[in-house]
Amino acid sequence: MSSMAKVKVLPPDVVSKIAAGEVVERPAAVVKELLENALDAGAIKVEVHVKDGGKSSIVIKDNGSGIERADLETIFTRHATSKIKGADDLDNILSLGFRGEALYSIAAVSEVTLKTRAEKSSEAWEMFLKGGHREKFLPAALAGHGTEIRVDEIFFNTPARKKFLKSDSAEFDQILHIVVPYALLYPSLHVVVTHNNRTIYDLAPAASLGARAAACLNLDANHIIESEARLAEEGITLKLLLGDINIQRPRRDQQFIFVNHRPVQHKNIAYHVNEIYKLILPDGVNPFFAVYLELPLEDVDVNIHPTKREVRLRQEGRFTGFLRNTVEHALMTKGQAKAAADIFKFETPAAQIEQGPLSSPELGVPASKIVFAPQQKNGAPVFEADAEASPISRREESYVAPSFFSDHMPAAPALKDRLLQARFIGTFARKYHLFEEGTSLFLVDQHAAQERITFEKFKRQIDSGQVEVQPLLTPLVLKLSPGEMLAWEELKETLKGLGLETTLFGEGAIALQAHPVLLSAPDNVVRALLGGEEIARTDQDTLARRACRASVMAGDMMYASEAAYQLKELMACQDPMTCPHGRPVFVELKEGFLDRQFLRT
Ligand code: ADP
Ligand code: MG
Repeated sequence: MSSMAKVKVLPPDVVSKIAAGEVVERPAAVVKELLENALDAGAIKVEVHVKDGGKSSIVIKDNGSGIERADLETIFTRHATSKIKGADDLDNILSLGFRGEALYSIAAVSEVTLKTRAEKSSEAWEMFLKGGHREKFLPAALAGHGTEIRVDEIFFNTPARKKFLKSDSAEFDQILHIVVPYALLYPSLHVVVTHNNRTIYDLAPAASLGARAAACLNLDANHIIESEARLAEEGITLKLLLGDINIQRPRRDQQFIFVNHRPVQHKNIAYHVNEIYKLILPDGVNPFFAVYLELPLEDVDVNIHPTKREVRLRQEGRFTGFLRNTVEHALMTKGQAKAAADIFKFETPAAQIEQGPLSSPELGVPASKIVFAPQQKNGAPVFEADAEASPISRREESYVAPSFFSDHMPAAPALKDRLLQARFIGTFARKYHLFEEGTSLFLVDQHAAQERITFEKFKRQIDSGQVEVQPLLTPLVLKLSPGEMLAWEELKETLKGLGLETTLFGEGAIALQAHPVLLSAPDNVVRALLGGEEIARTDQDTLARRACRASVMAGDMMYASEAAYQLKELMACQDPMTCPHGRPVFVELKEGFLDRQFLRT
């Protein structure tokens, strides 16, 4: 077997045309690059073994083509790639990689051990590099063809970057966010993922996209609609996995988009699909979906961002209508009706019976309010930022009620007194209560107000260790994704402290046994709490805040007396001006302001 070198260093004029940038900023980035290399090498089985969130080690093993002896000299050189040769190839990229930068960048900041055996070659090789310098090169023993790359001690020589790493669980969560889309994209790929020697995924090849998604995300396959449509002249193929009405998530954490076999982020596609779902889902819940789009290569630009996570589609407008129609048609014709909650037999744990009848619904005690004393605060340090704070919600935190409506914002106590005198005059758009006081019109955001009231009551109960809980006669069973399951294991004691009693319910599911009386939609609440990053370091306050937000219900018409009562409760709050997330609860419109609008002054 002649070993012809396939890897070439790209000439500078080509390099200058490639979107450049940092490749390795955290362990998940390493996993992404190595996984993509394995896929480009035609692997049908990939193993990802992670230790301590990837901080100690990451091993990626594939059974792909392997690397020829002659290429081992070059692969760790900057811009060395076998995937493109010149600038022309940039318009026809079929491989996931093409920049020839990943191995170079990874090796520069870690200790890399590579073992490989090329297809049809009888010899295997092992290489060891530290900080980018080759320290060992020797023959190795490797049964089949393929490549195993081990990355140890990431950022050992760049302590500043190391310092920015988050907790092990948060880093591992990011790794799952890389692996899961590829598992969804390639149902026939055998995917193994372990963390600290524990198997998180062992996904055998699946027969269809839907079957893979069900296995990977722990969803019920019966509630996944598979659909496919084509625009023949344009050369567009669209495959869809659409959760039906029975799959509801508080976050958009199970929405995936693939363009030409590449996981991507695409705001417009996500927007349009979510828009169609508004036809069947209530406010505040989000669907599961996966969009697999194939377009002619010349209609997609993947070279706009170094991580290739974003793509630009040419003639997007034409495609949008087609996408919306296909989604709508599939949902309307193939979706199932909302299923009644599955009934499971309630196994009363022995310990609960010993505690007495109060906590044992099965002994015939009505599911009335009982007082449950949770553990004291777990003493977890308050972490720098609200874990769920996306750039958007962080902006909300600092949101200040727009004062341009009022001539001036009066001092809070006086305002409180005035609001207590205010007369309810109606509800606008099922959202805003209108109150009149003196020469002002007050608009109260009914939901923000309720969130504030619930939050403060809930906080008082938590702080006094007396959360009023409502046991469920039939526990609510929630199927969790592996990521959520890990979060649950870390968080279950804390959840208990918040009055959310959960127990393991077989493989990949938990049962919610009791929830705080104050919180409605407790299943939504549990999911919202398990969905965030940095769970281990999230303080109780943040969790309580998040729980209250997830619990807020869709707008109901309120009677005058209820609206007035809500206002009184609000005024009893310590901090009535904003909701727990910092949005304003009310806005004041002064008569003078309205007069000016009508040119009366
Ligand atoms: P790129 O993927 O952009 O080409 P990389 O730095 O990721 O750049 O990899 C450099 C080269 O090393 C690839 O072009 C490929 O030839 C080879 N290579 C890397 N990983 C593997 C693998 N797992 N199996 C086979 N070849 C690999
Ligand atoms: Mg690569």
